[in-house]
Amino acid sequence: MTSDKPFAPLSARLIKRLAGLALLCILAGSIIHALLLYQQEKRHFTQTIQQLAELHVPLLQVALWDIEIEALSRQVEQIALLPDIAAVELRATTGLDVRAGNFASLIRPDASLRIPPPDGGAFDLAELHVYYQHQRLTQAIVAAAGLRLFELSLFTLLICLVIFHYLRRELVVPLGRMAGYVGALVPEKHPPALAPLHPQRPWRDEIDQVAEGFDTLRESIGHYAARHEQALHTLEQERDSLDRRVAERTEELAFVSGYQEWLSQSMLSFMHIGHADYPDTLQRLLGELAGYLKLDACALFERHGQQSWTTRLVWFGSEDWPWLERTHRQLGLPGQPQEPGWTLQSSEADPGVILVRYHSQQRGFTCAVRSAERQALPPARLSLLEDAGQWLFSLLQRWEHALDLERARQELLVLSHRDHLTGLANRRHFDERRADEVRRALRNQQPVGLLMIDVDYFKNFNDLYGHGHGDDCLVALADQLKRRFKRAAELPARLGGEEFSVLLPGYSREQALAAAENLREAVFGLGIAHNGSPLRVVTVSVGCVWWDGSSSDEGVTRLISRLMNAADSALYQAKGQGRNQVCAQALEAPGAEDEPGTEVEQRDC
Ligand code: GH3
Ligand code: MG
Ligand code: MG
Repeated sequence: MTSDKPFAPLSARLIKRLAGLALLCILAGSIIHALLLYQQEKRHFTQTIQQLAELHVPLLQVALWDIEIEALSRQVEQIALLPDIAAVELRATTGLDVRAGNFASLIRPDASLRIPPPDGGAFDLAELHVYYQHQRLTQAIVAAAGLRLFELSLFTLLICLVIFHYLRRELVVPLGRMAGYVGALVPEKHPPALAPLHPQRPWRDEIDQVAEGFDTLRESIGHYAARHEQALHTLEQERDSLDRRVAERTEELAFVSGYQEWLSQSMLSFMHIGHADYPDTLQRLLGELAGYLKLDACALFERHGQQSWTTRLVWFGSEDWPWLERTHRQLGLPGQPQEPGWTLQSSEADPGVILVRYHSQQRGFTCAVRSAERQALPPARLSLLEDAGQWLFSLLQRWEHALDLERARQELLVLSHRDHLTGLANRRHFDERRADEVRRALRNQQPVGLLMIDVDYFKNFNDLYGHGHGDDCLVALADQLKRRFKRAAELPARLGGEEFSVLLPGYSREQALAAAENLREAVFGLGIAHNGSPLRVVTVSVGCVWWDGSSSDEGVTRLISRLMNAADSALYQAKGQGRNQVCAQALEAPGAEDEPGTEVEQRDC
């Protein structure tokens, strides 16, 4: 920063000071010199007056006494010619006044001499007034002072010139260069060196010391700038590395949070799927997992007990079945995990392949993946992969449990639908299926037949042959029903005790009656001995009813109720008319079932 103060060069100020001092010295010297000259002139004038008193006063005394005017005038003129004297006046007591010299600008005499009478009388003859030559004194002083002034001025001028030149060469120019150099000096790694301030010479002075100081300063600045630059560079590297780490961490966090979100959604999705959706959902899951972890192949293997490994699920970015075979073979090789628990292995033969494995005596599980770049996964991804492997294993187990549950459910369902003694549909299942079939028949306007079967004198049978034989008899009758009514829609069922029923969707009236009659005959033909029955064999009575499928706006429940009532009524009639017969009953019109005198058809009644 440049100061606002005016620039006053050092040499100029020094020269000015020198000149001023020299002027004062010259002035003082001139004054002293003039004073000395004045004193000298004064002494000289005094000597001249003494000479006058000794030489000229006796002559003037005589001339005055003798009254020789001419001689008196000559004497006065001679005195006036003396060098120090400007004018002379002789005033006699007689009134005589003799003058000589130049009286211009003279005011009063510088010295006066009495001229006494030669006889020693009391009264002086005259008085001699002498006027000093002042002009001469002034000229002498002026000449001497002027000479001194000239000498000193010349000397001062020379001194000033020498000093100015020396100062300029040795001080001003080097200092100016230094100032320019320092002004342009900036902190940099290699600041320029200070150019030589003067030619080479065999000595050093203060300027050289200052220049050396600047050189040291320059080196220090260079070192400082180098260190500063290094520090900046390190700082920049740190900043870049920090930026990079922040970006990587942010990306990783975004990835992990996305992965977690996906994981929780996938877990949720598994809470609501059925066992049948597991394969597709797991397959989709593997694909999504591969997308997240940048995999191009993923396979799940499992082992039960000492059995060999089986492949459960496979996902490929691009198909590579040899890889799958290779990996599968590798699982059976010696050197597999011995300790129970989870392990994470990377395949040495197959770069980028990671195996997440579970081992125990009862179960083995392996999730084999291959990274898309065929390179080792970063540790963070490995830990995610390990978690994912464990999760997939739990899903497989869950899938198995779901399958087991489904199997159990199906078995339970079958058991709940079946009569445990005969294996026919039980009452509950019959009611459900009956509703479905009747609904379908109503919708399609198809006929439906219904048989109601009851064993005759069965109480007697039990009483005569025992309950066990009674059961065997029921099983034999059920076999007849199964054999005769095995089409999908036909539904033979045991309603309870020794009562059976068969629903016959799509049967015409004749077909239903024929089926009932054939059944009755077949039971009779079994020839199961029954001494408690008049016919000596086991027989059945059958009530048969039939709906023609005509359009009806009544509901399913209502139609079923009418069918069952009519079948019961027909059975009751068959019993009442002697048993071992089929009685058919026409279905009453809707709403007329309570009316008496309904039409009853009889066949073998
Ligand atoms: P009807 O000709 O009038 O039908 O005479 P019935 O003796 O068959 O009639 P009833 O309804 O009085 O008797 C039915 C008998 O069926 C009573 C019971 O001992 C027998 N029974 C019911 N359920 C079973 C069963 O599960 N096993 C055996 N062995 N007998 C049963
Ligand atoms: Mg009965
Ligand atoms: Mg009976």
